[in-house]
Amino acid sequence: MTTDVQVETIEPVELLIGGEWRAAAGGGRIEVEDPGSRRVLTTAADAAVEDALAALDAASAAAAGWAATPARERGEVLRRTFDLLVDRGEEFARLLTLEMGRPLAESRGEVAYGAEFFRWYAEEAVRINGRYGAAPAGNARILTSPRPVGPCLLIAPWNFPLAMATRKIGPALAAGCTAVLKPARETPLTSRALAELMEEAGLPAGVLNVITTSRPREVVAALLADPRLRKVSFTGSTEVGKELVRAAAGNLLRTSMELGGNAPLVVFEDADLDLAVREATLAKMRNTGQSCVAANRMLVAAPIAAEFGARLAAAIGEMPIGHGLEPGTEVGPLIDAAAGERLGGLVAEACEAGATMLLGAERDLPERGHFFAPAVLADVPADARILHEEAFGPVAPIVAFDTEEEALALANATPFGLASYVFTADMSRALRVIDGIEAGMVGINRGMISDASAPFGGIKQSGLGREGGPEGLAEYLSLRYASLAI
Ligand code: NAD
Repeated sequence: MTTDVQVETIEPVELLIGGEWRAAAGGGRIEVEDPGSRRVLTTAADAAVEDALAALDAASAAAAGWAATPARERGEVLRRTFDLLVDRGEEFARLLTLEMGRPLAESRGEVAYGAEFFRWYAEEAVRINGRYGAAPAGNARILTSPRPVGPCLLIAPWNFPLAMATRKIGPALAAGCTAVLKPARETPLTSRALAELMEEAGLPAGVLNVITTSRPREVVAALLADPRLRKVSFTGSTEVGKELVRAAAGNLLRTSMELGGNAPLVVFEDADLDLAVREATLAKMRNTGQSCVAANRMLVAAPIAAEFGARLAAAIGEMPIGHGLEPGTEVGPLIDAAAGERLGGLVAEACEAGATMLLGAERDLPERGHFFAPAVLADVPADARILHEEAFGPVAPIVAFDTEEEALALANATPFGLASYVFTADMSRALRVIDGIEAGMVGINRGMISDASAPFGGIKQSGLGREGGPEGLAEYLSLRYASLAI
């Protein structure tokens, strides 16, 4: 199989600093590759520390003006961005597929989801209010007013280049904060297109600045050390998140950390099996498994484990693999060669330890991109690395359990706690599991939980803070309290 989709010429990406698009001071460039064909699509400016600090200069200079802009006006810029994003959805979906590989239909889903953060926070911007109350002693009044925290650094990963950025930009700008956005080096195209769209929607210069870099550690460290920065919001791996929390301690920055997961998907014997297989396929295969909320471990009641495994393997095995722009593709490439090697190692290790491969042997894969044959493994030993690490790819290990207690113990046997999924027809059981599972989010009889109006986030080593909903806005606000003598 070869991949031969036609790709238009894509303009090089520059840095957006204070309303101007410009090259990096040192002139460095990063190549942007299509993981589905390994073709170089274009280049992006490679920011050095001095460019990042210039972006922070711009965000600081714009901070007072944006904070003082009436909430309705801030909301209207967000609302116009939503409208423009929906109008140009197809263009954005194509860019997403080109820079990160996933099937076009799924990229359309990311555009719809990503755009929602602008609509939701356009509506929230005008409802940021404090309270007025009486001090119990009767000698004073209490007045609270939420204030923007100040210039923010927003760091996004490559796996949802649009939605992970809009989930931060929406609430930050609604709250009256200015920002420096740092997309992943692999995926600068969508961020550029989004920033252009926001300029068109009337966003004043300097409110949103965008820098791409191949040296994130150095560049981010310089920003975190600068006292003008007041907050960092990060989505990415737990390892890097911990490093950033340590660095943010220097100036005691506000931090929001959306980190890695190891989601259990628990199927009880009383579950609707058709539904469970359909939703498990979605929860596993969305984004070719490269999602922080991907079902990483399938925990299935022993009496139905064999049937569930066979049906899941059949459903995943039928999904066409190909370049994301090829019509009909349901499984795209991984982001790079290293991801495939890592995943191959996890599968081989599990099989050597005694797991049975229900799916995954030879498949005809496209030649040029970073493709990986999806795998389903049964009877995976409890200590296999694949159950304890985030696979971040299309591999589904299945473990059988006997009792509800055992299912919960297995589900919780991880330092992570982001998403979880439970399939059962018994509502009392569902409520018990919601209480007992150690995760920030639980899907009951559904494999898709993301919603702009809901608080997305993790517990344990999956992160700090929430994105989406009113909770996501609070992350960008600090409270001022005034005591009024009467
Ligand atoms: P990553 O941690 O390698 O990179 C994320 C971002 O951090 C990128 O912009 C990268 O350039 C930057 N970065 C990398 N090293 C850095 C450093 N030392 N200092 C500062 N910045 C640095 O993660 P990734 O591979 O891009 O994304 C995959 C990870 O993200 C997975 O673990 C996944 O679970 C997680 N993720 C979490 C959520 C969530 O909401 N919880 C959502 C999507 C992805």
